[in-house]
Amino acid sequence: MSSLPAFPSSSLLPPARAPWSMRRLLAAFLLLLLFVASVIWLNLSASRAVATQSAALAERRIPELRAISDLRAQLAARGNQLYLYYATTEGETWQAADRQIEQQMERCLSALISLGLPDDEQQRYRRHAGDWQQHTQAFTREMQSPARRSWDALREHLAAAQRSLDAQAMMFAAWDEAIRLTTAEASQSALDEVGRLTRLQIAFSLGVLLVAGVTLLVLRARQKDQARLHQQAYFDQLTGLPNRRSLEYALQHRPTDSDGCLLLLSLPAYQRLAGAYGQASADALLQTATLWLRGELGWLGQRQLLFRIEGERLAVLAPGLGTTAEAAALAARLRQIADYPLQLEGRRVNVELRIGITLYPGDGLDPTCLIRNADAALQHTVNGDHCHFFSPALATANDRRLALEAALRQALQQHELSLHYQPKVTPAGALRGAEALARWQRDGQWVSPGEFIPVAEESGLIIPLGNWVVEEACRQWQEWQSSGLPALPLAVNISAQQFQAPDFPDWLAGTLADHRVPPAMLELEITEAVAANDPDKVIATMHKLKKLGVSLAIDDFGTGYSSLTYLQRFPIDTLKIDQSFIRDHHSQPAIVRLILALAAELRLQVVAEGVETSEQQTMLAALGCDLLQGYHFSRPLPPVAYAAWLASEPLSKGSGASTNVLQ
Ligand code: C2E
Ligand code: MG
Ligand code: MG
Repeated sequence: MSSLPAFPSSSLLPPARAPWSMRRLLAAFLLLLLFVASVIWLNLSASRAVATQSAALAERRIPELRAISDLRAQLAARGNQLYLYYATTEGETWQAADRQIEQQMERCLSALISLGLPDDEQQRYRRHAGDWQQHTQAFTREMQSPARRSWDALREHLAAAQRSLDAQAMMFAAWDEAIRLTTAEASQSALDEVGRLTRLQIAFSLGVLLVAGVTLLVLRARQKDQARLHQQAYFDQLTGLPNRRSLEYALQHRPTDSDGCLLLLSLPAYQRLAGAYGQASADALLQTATLWLRGELGWLGQRQLLFRIEGERLAVLAPGLGTTAEAAALAARLRQIADYPLQLEGRRVNVELRIGITLYPGDGLDPTCLIRNADAALQHTVNGDHCHFFSPALATANDRRLALEAALRQALQQHELSLHYQPKVTPAGALRGAEALARWQRDGQWVSPGEFIPVAEESGLIIPLGNWVVEEACRQWQEWQSSGLPALPLAVNISAQQFQAPDFPDWLAGTLADHRVPPAMLELEITEAVAANDPDKVIATMHKLKKLGVSLAIDDFGTGYSSLTYLQRFPIDTLKIDQSFIRDHHSQPAIVRLILALAAELRLQVVAEGVETSEQQTMLAALGCDLLQGYHFSRPLPPVAYAAWLASEPLSKGSGASTNVLQ
């Protein structure tokens, strides 16, 4: 597998979309920006607070402390000067020095006042200064009268002056202490602010990291989701190939002036295998065929693209190969895979490949038209002609089919369909029941079921059509019953889609009850293809139906691909030999005999279809066939004609079939 060339990643394939739209990315970015801006703002305001506190310290507290310190120094000097005066008695020198000190102290005080010294503290200072004046004046007076000088009085004045100085010194110390205290508090709060700032920075960094991490994770998850959705929308899960949507995209986005071809490939073996061996085998076939085709296209070049459209259908888009000869050569090359049988789960499988081809721009331009053209061409491939080119005549056929589908839909809505009843008789000619067959008269012309049943199957109309047939057959049976006609069973054909509908057994039980039809009076004819598709599920449904009381027949037996093993497990009552074996009995005499032997072994009733001659009747009677059906006895009859036959049937004849089961 690894030796295969890589499948081209073409510009024609839809690109995976950006995981997030620009608008969302912008919104996420704006959110992040908002977060960053708010953290920066918080940071700024915290820094501003720290700066303000530091500035206050520098601009106010330090000059205040300096002024107080000066004041204290002057105070000490003032005391010393007074003592010096006392010792030397030089009054003039002292007065000059004291005046100078006082001026000095006044300057310091003005500085403190300008820095915000409270009024009551100023008053206190003035009071102490007044005391000092008072005591030093008394001291001076005493000093200046040597005749009456009293040393005791002098010492007393000196002590009073000293006390005033001490009081001032204490006041300055208190100021100093108060300033130091508020400074310490401011420093502490600045420190706290710095701590908060640091924590904010750490939180911010972690926040940014977290947001970035979460954004990354979300983006990754979204990217994965987007990639998965893109994969599901544009690629087939089984084969990994681009799907129908991708093909439409590629056709839409091809260069307008380009030419090329579109090949629609069908593998009929896929349905056969699904029917006979189950879906897994069919899928394995498709996967292997896909690998081969990819390999083949890879060797041809990198420009062709392979798609899986649906089911067993693939498509090859080949830009540049726009002529019939080029497209035919490509188809021939691809068809080579049909030359080699595949080994699948121990079985040899012949891979048949049918190809419908359309060229562009000649056959059409828009994707829907091109795919429809290729499909129309594919539907015209037949055995021996496995490739077919589209032509306008084919388009007409396709349009006819679409018109037929629309008309059938309308006919169903307007109840324009009817049922005819084809009798089933014993080899001796006694009536034993009938098969209800759908009839459609369109614009006065009968449309063959061979034409409208396949259209109904393809369009899904088969479910309402088939349900109507069952209801109408039940209603008719009850009407005949009510008018006293013998109760003979009716058979209805059940399509695969109808049979596989999950509620079919319940729906059928309800319908039988609504029309008061005993289940034994209804026989369901299903084809081998239905029976062989997902056999386990089919067997389960069959058992449900059997439990209900209806009988089951395999229609057109011998033409399908059901395995004998499963046949043995099916709880069926009847095998209907396909009319082709009756017709060709002379050339293949063994087949009817074989089917009869098989039925005898499995204890099944056998009905021969398509009996057209008395010779066939005699032969089938001799072989022991239970019931016969065919033009030799009667064509399918409108209800009135069949009722007439029912009425003419001698009630005594037949093994109890003519008794009214409701009585
Ligand atoms: P079938 O179920 O095998 O029905 C038997 C077909 O063989 C009928 O064709 C019948 O008219 C035809 N036939 C009977 N005796 C002879 C004979 O002696 N010679 C020849 N040449 N043909 C004979 P008809 O009515 O055209 O139906 C064809 C098929 O369409 C049916 O084959 C059945 O598969 C399908 N069909 C008809 N009605 C319904 C229906 O209501 N539901 C479904 N799902 N399929 C239906
Ligand atoms: Mg039938
Ligand atoms: Mg049949």
